[in-house]
Amino acid sequence: MKLIADLVSIPSPTGNTKEVITFVEKFLKELEVDTYRNRKGGLIATLKGQDSSKHRMLTAHVDTLGAMVKEVKANGRLKIDLIGGFKYNSIEGEYCQIETQNGKKYTGTILMHQTSVHVYKDAGKAERNQDNIEIRIDEKVHTAEEVRALGIEVGDFVAFDPRVELTPSGYLKSRHLDDKASVGIVLQLIKQIKNKGITLPYTTHFLISNNEEIGYGGNSNITPETVEYLAVDMGAMGDGQSTDEYTVSICAKDSSGPYHYELRKHLVRLAEENKIGYKLDIYPFYGSDASAAIRSGHDIVHGLIGPGIDSSHAFERTHVSSIENTAKLLYYYVQSNLVI
Ligand SMILES: [Zn+2]
Repeated sequence: MKLIADLVSIPSPTGNTKEVITFVEKFLKELEVDTYRNRKGGLIATLKGQDSSKHRMLTAHVDTLGAMVKEVKANGRLKIDLIGGFKYNSIEGEYCQIETQNGKKYTGTILMHQTSVHVYKDAGKAERNQDNIEIRIDEKVHTAEEVRALGIEVGDFVAFDPRVELTPSGYLKSRHLDDKASVGIVLQLIKQIKNKGITLPYTTHFLISNNEEIGYGGNSNITPETVEYLAVDMGAMGDGQSTDEYTVSICAKDSSGPYHYELRKHLVRLAEENKIGYKLDIYPFYGSDASAAIRSGHDIVHGLIGPGIDSSHAFERTHVSSIENTAKLLYYYVQSNLVI
């Protein structure tokens, strides 16, 4: 949980993930795991298996939702453009960080222009959209020129505060649990494999992808030997969903279509055999790095599992038991036989 808290605390909106990738690289280096960066900026770690003629690949993504400065407004505030799929209402009132091109960091708050009820009659009713939402920078700036003098410009990245908190009741509340909860689980799994001196049955690659939120994080760097490709990403919760915050969610189908039937059945079997709490589910508006890999032409067996995340792409929350169940299923999965 501490590792996940560390991960969510490093700003990494899609397109600006160098710092978090460096953090992951360092973590793996300390475990003496070889890694390399792809040109897109993602990281690949490989553990040699007993059989290196067939490979397995797991992926989790470190990129998160975020924003970019779209316009420096005449009133000294910033108009933003969203990175990833979410609504403006889910960031209203959030603290944020603006990173300039030369690396300077400023803080601010994301607000409706018409926030003050003492001044604006329609404060509650006005639409939460690009025109009305703006960043109030924590600097003495009242004109566009003053903002530019700070070095802030169109194209600067904006990261939202995660506000990470672990409650005594075992809930982890934070933004960006999608998908840093899974990155934490995958890193911990690698640590466990190394510490226990386990040799995996097949050479296994772990791709820490950095462009998932925009659709193409993990669709490359898949070796020709790779047979199975499992995305470890969040389980989607809501009305009619079976996914919850306490079990591991195994995805049967999302908007991209069904995941590989044999692999799905294999994951269910592993969960049942090892008494791991799981839920089978369908995610209505969802695509993963595994489906992105299939779409880009890779002939692989693809699957998707992950911890259940409440209020995804907004004020997210999960429970330690969902993290544990996901970790357990992965532990048995990486040591199991391939399904084809
Ligand atoms: Zn995700």
